[in-house]
Amino acid sequence: MGEVREKRRIVLVPVPAQGHVTPIMQLGKALYSKGFSITVVLTQYNRVSSSKEFSDFHFLTIPGSLTESDLKNLGPFRFLVKLNQICEASFKQCICQLLEEQGDDIACVVYDEYMYFSQTAVKEFQLPSVLFSTTSATAFVCRSVLASVNAETFLTDMKDPEVSDKVFPGLDPLRYKDLPTSAFGPLESILKVYSETVNIRTASAVIINSTNCLESSSLAWLQKELQVPVYPIGPLHIAAAAPSSLLEEDRSCIEWLNKQKLGSVIYISLGSLALMETKDVLEMAWGLSNSNQPFLWVIRPGSIPASEWIESLPEEFSRLVSERGYIVKWAPQMEVLRHPAVGAFWSHCGWNSTLESIGEGVPMICRPYTGDQKVNARYLERVWRIGVQLEGELGKGTVERAVERLILDEEGAEMRKRAIDLKEKLEASVRSGGSSCSSLENFVNSLKMKNSM
Ligand code: UDP
Repeated sequence: MGEVREKRRIVLVPVPAQGHVTPIMQLGKALYSKGFSITVVLTQYNRVSSSKEFSDFHFLTIPGSLTESDLKNLGPFRFLVKLNQICEASFKQCICQLLEEQGDDIACVVYDEYMYFSQTAVKEFQLPSVLFSTTSATAFVCRSVLASVNAETFLTDMKDPEVSDKVFPGLDPLRYKDLPTSAFGPLESILKVYSETVNIRTASAVIINSTNCLESSSLAWLQKELQVPVYPIGPLHIAAAAPSSLLEEDRSCIEWLNKQKLGSVIYISLGSLALMETKDVLEMAWGLSNSNQPFLWVIRPGSIPASEWIESLPEEFSRLVSERGYIVKWAPQMEVLRHPAVGAFWSHCGWNSTLESIGEGVPMICRPYTGDQKVNARYLERVWRIGVQLEGELGKGTVERAVERLILDEEGAEMRKRAIDLKEKLEASVRSGGSSCSSLENFVNSLKMKNSM
């Protein structure tokens, strides 16, 4: 009898955006360390393929996919919808080419939940597939719940201030207004996309970049509802660090941090997509200045309306900032959060930033913009109790007070203690014997079993 060759190739399909690329590449690293070869299928927007960090990975580009300027023109939501439309056929071509060139050695296609077009090819070539969720388990639960609500009734409820402040039945402590609706598109289309992302079709499992000590009840809900194994294997940035910044990091801020007092600096970053309003930027600058605390502020080029970078802001802004602030276009965030001078993180509460901040035991000022950031902010404030959420109009007084609460008050010290406690739990979960480490091993074993049948 001929020897049965074990299938050892894993095909990864990331969404071409920083917050999605980072965790899927980390997952690739984790699986590579378990002996799999990794093929990453990119759209034309990604640049991670040139990174030395991934020189052992094989990269393929989906022909005719969207570019970075399409993202700018369409906005994130329409970009994703269009990407799913146009990539379906070309992804099939990619997989076909891969099978021809490498033989039938694909153990599994792991696709980002927002790259649901992958399922057509997977079905056609009868390949095992796994859905990878880069958001929190709770955000996944919310999307599943929202996928089945009546859009019209929900919209009416959301517009009623009395209802929008109420806890959504079954999702305590999330209120209607904390649910991951998005500023990037009309509610009906968003709910439609959500139903695509939570529809696991022929996927045989779901991998989540989270861990039991953060979200045990949401994970249990998913395990019950999805009827396929759910593997919480995060936080991946601790389990399998793999730098994959799509933008150039300005490391001069580390030198600036080296000169600041222990635990005194507010680090401000709103992730890779959020846009700021000019009036909010000014209120933030005033509030930070009045707080008398030093701050490191990431302002992405193009994130302030009508500005290439910060040139449209009044001179007064530069004066306020130069007194005790430092601004960069993009920072080495993990290193910043790890720096002893950093006392708090003002964040939009994207899931990666949330995990990274908890992973370094840094309490947060939460100012979510859209989507799952609102879910994460509510959990940071109410469930993990390591954050303060700023809601409604942003005023300099509120900013100043929030900074004081986190950096100077006893309340902030308590939050930091809880954050450090969580950090230790996260580290334990990815160590040998920890829940996420075991979950990854179970996933790898499940692939071996499937491929040896
Ligand atoms: N990030 C970074 N430098 C910055 C700002 C952000 O490296 O100056 C990274 C951050 O570490 C995180 C990612 O960008 O891994 C942002 O992902 P997140 O899910 O927090 O937010 P998104 O960009 O998806 O809104």
